Amino acid sequence: MSLDHVTHLECTLCGAEYDPNQVIYTCPEHEGVKGILEVTYDYDAIHDDFDASLDGAIPSQWKYEPFLPVSADATRVTLQEGGTELFDAPQLGAELGVKALVKDDGRNPTGCFKDRASSIAVTKARHAGRDIITCASTGNAAASLSGYAARGGLDCRIFVPGDAPEGKLAQPLVYGADVLAVDGSYDEAYDLSVTVTDEYGWYNRNAAINPFQVEGKRTVGHELAEQSVVRGSVPDWVVYSMGDGCTISGAWKGFKEFYDLDYVEEYPRMLGVQAEGAPAIHDAFHEHDDVSDIAETLADSISVGRPRNTIKACRALEESGGDAVLVTDEAILEAEALLGRTEGIFAEPAAAASVAGVRKARETGIIEPDETVVVTSTGFGLKDTKGAQQATGAVDSIDPSLSEVESLYGTSEQAPADD
Ligand SMILES: [Zn+2]
Repeated sequence: MSLDHVTHLECTLCGAEYDPNQVIYTCPEHEGVKGILEVTYDYDAIHDDFDASLDGAIPSQWKYEPFLPVSADATRVTLQEGGTELFDAPQLGAELGVKALVKDDGRNPTGCFKDRASSIAVTKARHAGRDIITCASTGNAAASLSGYAARGGLDCRIFVPGDAPEGKLAQPLVYGADVLAVDGSYDEAYDLSVTVTDEYGWYNRNAAINPFQVEGKRTVGHELAEQSVVRGSVPDWVVYSMGDGCTISGAWKGFKEFYDLDYVEEYPRMLGVQAEGAPAIHDAFHEHDDVSDIAETLADSISVGRPRNTIKACRALEESGGDAVLVTDEAILEAEALLGRTEGIFAEPAAAASVAGVRKARETGIIEPDETVVVTSTGFGLKDTKGAQQATGAVDSIDPSLSEVESLYGTSEQAPADD
């Protein structure tokens, strides 16, 4: 039943170590949920166990199972998450002045990269004999967790801020979850979910505090490393938008593991992107005296005032030699339309923020011309059609007549068919 390849859980603040086989969320030595834990592994054991070839064939994230903090005798709860495409994006690159690639994680089963973490969460909850799982979410984690809870036969009870987009609320309802819309912000919904976890003993999937959930997100780093090996080059930059900071830290940890094990020869620099209206990790990284805790952006998935994983995110930026930038909501919407128009990839606003971040980093000289840049689309655009409509404007309404079309495109110059 034990996790032989997981050595311990280590507090990111005080370094205290905990047994990975107990259900523990944060180090009790610190106020609230500040004592975020890091999962540490026995990489010799993992390396001995990992015999898949890095040939680019990635049916799902479970290709990397020896790296996942899951007991060998646990039954996987999976919908084939991960294994997402890394596309060349020449038209997008031409607009941004870089060699662009898009890692399209919006293609995961519920339309969001969080499926990587939810698969691990539900697998672990079920293995631990839990039958109720909970989380707080700005929307995507709610949809993702509910889908996997349904797949794993668990009850799911989730807390969302009252203003979450309708598409993201429809999804968990279809998956049969109890959706509790909290009359308040994401931060308030989050605090309530933690209180409820303490009170009722439900399994808490919140990626920021459940140390194992970030670990599922490492697989995107494993995939990027493997895809780099197949392509014969490592990108100069990998770009993520940041909300709680879990995703960029998970992706970095995964890539770095493959680098440390000599599976890949170099590593990319990480660029973290936040909205100007929710800049807490950016501010902490750049050591602003007064780190803002506002959260006002239309990119709901990254509308986080008090990120729970600032330390891990800043560590990813520092270790990789990366950077952090802020973008406006206007730039995010423009980027959403740009990504769709140039490459046929429909990303939600928070996902498009990574594209806006590349533009900003080019303008400020952080990214040099013609560097290779992976932008990651973390969520599918159909989850938030209202946001999309702000990005694109309305459809043209016309009467069902040829003259209406001619008024738009001129008279056809094509000769009439000769039959
Ligand atoms: Zn501690």
